[in-house]
Amino acid sequence: MAIRIVTSPRGFDLPCIHCGSREGLSVLLGDVQTLSCGSCENEVALDQLKETLNHWQRAVAWLDSAPTYLAQGEHEPQAGAA
Ligand SMILES: [Zn+2]
Repeated sequence: MAIRIVTSPRGFDLPCIHCGSREGLSVLLGDVQTLSCGSCENEVALDQLKETLNHWQRAVAWLDSAPTYLAQGEHEPQAGAA
């Protein structure tokens, strides 16, 4: 019988990547590779979170570098440039 202990990672204030709810995410401690959303009932796999973070990191790097390029009147930075 699988361990069914469910907890919510509320301390992280994490929004669901599907519906944006910050109330419904929980993790089954028998499968810590997947979060479940109680608001939209979708699952969020750890790999999905990593992929989402990777996209955001690239976007943040682009946004961080943009003022320098804009101030110099140069071409805009390329996506993925650090
Ligand atoms: Zn959701």
